[in-house]
Amino acid sequence: MRLSQSLIPTLKETPAEAQIASHRLMLRAGLVRQMASGIYAWLPAGHRVLTKIANIVREEQDAAGVQEMLMPTIQSAELWRESGRYDAYGKEMLRITDRHERELLFGPTNEEMITAIVRDSVKSYRDLPQMLYHIQWKFRDEVRPRFGVLRGREFLMKDAYSFDLDREGAVVAYKKMMLAYMRTFQRIGITAIPMRADTGQIGGDLSHEFHVLAPTGESGVFYDADFEAGDALATGDVDAFYEQMTTIYAATDEKHDVAAWEKVPENRRREGRGIEVGQIFYFGKKYSETMNFGVVGPDGTKIFPEMGSYGIGVSRLVGAIIEASHDEAGIIWPDAVAPFRAAILNLRQGDAVTDKICEDLHARLSADCLYDDREERAGQKFAEADLMGHPWQIIVGPRGAANGQVELKRRATGERFELSVEDALAKVRG
Ligand code: ATP
Ligand code: MG
Repeated sequence: MRLSQSLIPTLKETPAEAQIASHRLMLRAGLVRQMASGIYAWLPAGHRVLTKIANIVREEQDAAGVQEMLMPTIQSAELWRESGRYDAYGKEMLRITDRHERELLFGPTNEEMITAIVRDSVKSYRDLPQMLYHIQWKFRDEVRPRFGVLRGREFLMKDAYSFDLDREGAVVAYKKMMLAYMRTFQRIGITAIPMRADTGQIGGDLSHEFHVLAPTGESGVFYDADFEAGDALATGDVDAFYEQMTTIYAATDEKHDVAAWEKVPENRRREGRGIEVGQIFYFGKKYSETMNFGVVGPDGTKIFPEMGSYGIGVSRLVGAIIEASHDEAGIIWPDAVAPFRAAILNLRQGDAVTDKICEDLHARLSADCLYDDREERAGQKFAEADLMGHPWQIIVGPRGAANGQVELKRRATGERFELSVEDALAKVRG
């Protein structure tokens, strides 16, 4: 993509309304613009990040055997009256009336809808288990939308739902999902720690929240330092993985247990702040019973399925990644989710050799690179590339170009390499 022809409206000034780094940087790097309180438009570069994250989430859900579908954003009040949550949900729910005076709402989550859908076609124990997910916009009329996309009103969530015949099956689904989540965060390039959590609005008896560590996080977190070192993912075995994840102490302030905390050796105790990027729940028959969804069991009796639900805040992740990975100059994107893997900085637009090398690099790196082909000072190109946070910058100036050399800069470390065009390409492609 050519920067001269792109809508990436970077800002030099720090927007006054933004209190924390990720919000400031998302506005300054031209990723999003606020359209109304807590409601954002995703501009091209921001949309690329959101899509890359959603795709990693999708691939890991698919790999775990979860089936993708798509439910609507608008739901009927009737559905929520069945579970009793229409009144219980309160002011966070955006309620809508259509022209026929029918009561609708913009979905804050989908337990009721998925239960109704599965109830409609699953009649026998033979049709279970089922695991389904979608990636869809949610709306919660938060009292205080803040910190940009971290606490929006409209936000993108991956939500999955599991249906099993018994508790044992439901716990298997829960463990599988925890493993899929840890793989997802690892691929994105961030550390997220699963912590014992309250079950809140969803209800139920087993839940974990996944927290990205960042000083600006809304939750206090307490965890055993062994967590950072542990590579439980390598085991590949769901039970062993789950065992390791849940025996290491990790809790948010709501679930913090001082007696247990004292058992963690003092030199391993870590306290900090966390951003909740996901939460998983096992809540049993809460919805199947209240919404009368039963299947016929092997002996002809009615069985209410055991359910779980599993959310990831896809749009919140964009802000959380930036909170965890930035410096004074701007964003430092992990390779897997950067809007562009590399930027090409042409330091002498109009110089035949420099232009030729840049055009060649641009053609060969194709869609995943941003070519800064503007008539701008080198200093400005450097500053904007640092702000946007591309993992690699390929800097092409006339002196090096004359010898077929370019400079390659790694954003995360600041390392610089003088290389031939071919070697630079090989390094960027990894
Ligand atoms: P919070 O405690 O931060 O309000 P929650 O516990 O109410 O979130 P869940 O119902 O667990 O949220 O939803 C699943 C995920 O959706 C959360 O882990 C979070 O990543 C994301 N999410 C929830 N509310 C918002 C919001 N207002 N803006 C952006 N993402 C959100
Ligand atoms: Mg939650």
